[in-house]
Parts: sequence; C-alpha cells; structure tokens
Amino acid sequence: MKTMKMFLSLLMLAFAMPSLLAQPFTLPTLPYAYDALEPYIDARTMEIHHSKHHRAYVNNLNSAIKGTPMEQLDLNELMLGVSHFGDAVRNNGGGHYNHNLFWEILSPKPSEPSETMLRIISVNFGGMEELKKELRQAGMTQFGSGWAWLIVTPERRLAVTSTANQDNPLMDVVEERGVPILGIDVWEHAYYLHYQNRRGDYLDAIWNLIDWSVVEKKYGEALVSQTLMRIPRESE
Ligand code: MN
Repeated sequence: MKTMKMFLSLLMLAFAMPSLLAQPFTLPTLPYAYDALEPYIDARTMEIHHSKHHRAYVNNLNSAIKGTPMEQLDLNELMLGVSHFGDAVRNNGGGHYNHNLFWEILSPKPSEPSETMLRIISVNFGGMEELKKELRQAGMTQFGSGWAWLIVTPERRLAVTSTANQDNPLMDVVEERGVPILGIDVWEHAYYLHYQNRRGDYLDAIWNLIDWSVVEKKYGEALVSQTLMRIPRESE
C-alpha cells in the first residue's frame, strides 16, 4: 500500500512539472581528450568506456522510459525511487548517473583537497591516507563488477561504501544510502586493457587523477540538497 502511494505521488509530481526536465538523456561530452588521463587510464579504455559503454546505458535508459510517466522524472528522482521503476532503469539509469559522476571527478589536472576538506576528512576517517585505504579496500572487496563510493550520509557525515553492478547510494534498493561525491568504477571495462587482473594497481593509480575541487563542490552541494533530505536517516 505504501508502495502504491509513493508511486502515485511520483506520478502526480510528474504531471505537475511537465517539460521542465531535459529528456531524453544524452551522453555528456568529456571535458578532456580520451588520451588525457594517460598513463593512469589509457586512451583506448577511455574511448570504449565513454563512447560504447556509457552510450549504451544512455540509449537503454531512454528506451526503458520512453512513452511512460518516468519520462517526466529527472535522474535523481529515478534513482531515489528505483525500486518502482524496474531493472532496466536500475541498471541503465544507474550506469548513466555513475559515469556522469566518474568523468566529472577525474581530470588530467588533478587538484588536492583544501585545508577545510582535509579537516573534514580527518574528522571522519582520521586522515587522507586512511580515506584512501578505505576506498581501496571498498574497491578491492567488491566482488565482480561495481563501484566504490565516498558519500554524504543523511546524518551529514562522510562514509565509504560500495555497490554491485550499476547500483549507487541514491537508490532505495541499496543498504547504505547517501549522496555520492566521489565514485570509482571497478568494472573490468574500466581498467582491464591496461591493468588486466591488477585492480589494486588501478585503484592506486586513480589518485593521480582525482580533481578534489570538484569533489569538494559536490560535498557542499550535497549537504544542502533536496536529494539528501529525501534519503531517510538510518533510525527512521
Ligand atoms: Mn564503467
């Protein structure tokens, strides 16, 4: 009953705000060349990852929502209520959301966290090295395909989590929820051409590409976002 009520309210929301949302979804243009992240991520991997894998998620997501009320929902709404929208939206909507974030936080001109961000990381994890260790561990222990995340929890703390396949911490099917501000793709398609089975080497190398100015901006936005307020606290 609760489920039905939520679905109906989403439908009403959809009809209340027609055409505000840019649909269908589109593949973002990368703000850097495919070879810009060498030697840490090779050009061929980047090209296939963006132009084939990510494009397929976008196309499949658009097919899944076409002609349905889901067409009127933005990507955040689709993620927050994904249990109502079926596996195609879960897999391909997740794929689209996750890769959008991944391309954004990577840069050929990486930047270090600010003093403020370092203090926040220190309070939450004990320090930058500890955060890196936790994220590496999350990526290494994710069996098969998935993602390692740094999230803002509904309690407004930072936490490291991981998810399988193209799930992400916004989704109402995921146990540890929050707004992701950094995501690391640990699908083999993200590293196999260059690193083969050495996922750990890829996870170590990726720190050379993280643009902390973007992560920090996402942190600030997440703290005051409607999206975060929509995720129930663990006690609720
Ligand atoms: Mn990927």
